[in-house]
Parts: sequence; C-alpha cells; structure tokens
Amino acid sequence: MRKCPCSENIFYAACCKPYHEGKNPENALILMRSRYAAYALCVVDYIAKTSHLSIIAAEGKDFFSNVQAFCKTTSFLGLFIHSFVENEQEACVTFSAKLTQNTQDASFQEKSLFVVEEGIWRYKEGKILRAGF
Ligand SMILES: [Zn+2]
Repeated sequence: MRKCPCSENIFYAACCKPYHEGKNPENALILMRSRYAAYALCVVDYIAKTSHLSIIAAEGKDFFSNVQAFCKTTSFLGLFIHSFVENEQEACVTFSAKLTQNTQDASFQEKSLFVVEEGIWRYKEGKILRAGF
C-alpha cells in the first residue's frame, strides 16, 4: 500500500483517495490536502472539480493541459500546514509545499483562500508568501 502524498504516515486509500473518487471534502483543510495529493498523482479531474469556476473560466481549454504539465514536471516531496482558519463559507490555509522541478528546488509557502461554491469547497486564489523551503 502506498502512503498518501499529503502525509508521511497515512496510506493513500485511507486518506485522500476517497475524495479523488468522488467524496466531497468536509472542510477546506481536507480539500487542501487532497488537492496537493491530486497534483502529486496527476488527478486532474479533481483539481478541476475543486477549483473556483472563475479560475477555470480564465484558463479556458488550457486548464487541463496546464495542470497536467505542472503535475508531470514536478516532484511533490511534502506538504506542511502552518495554519487553518475557516468560517462557514470561506477558509484560509497557510502551507509550505516542498517541490522540485528538473532537480531544482521549486518549493514555496502560500496563503490560499478557499470558498464554498455550488455546495463544495473550492480553491479560489493564493498568495505566495515566499519561494524556497
Ligand atoms: Zn492525503
């Protein structure tokens, strides 16, 4: 059994897999973790399903190929949650993602905004707080 990309300790089947297969995340922290795992495993449909409609509208038909290209050229080495604040319709998650692209460090720390849209939590926008790990 493989470990989930979002955690060093939990198996994928008991962590993010049910979300990738259709379960809606109960909160934005679970959404954050499951989106990270989806990027790591190139589950592009899930990234689309959990992105704010304005993001998909802005990227248009390139959305899937852009996400797929990012997934395939990036190694996902770890996710670290620093803070999580939510109310009923909005949530902020501050995290670090440890990444490499072509053996170069591509890590960053980001504060992400998530909102409930059409009944499910979605990623709306993010602010990069710093590059590097
Ligand atoms: Zn996970």
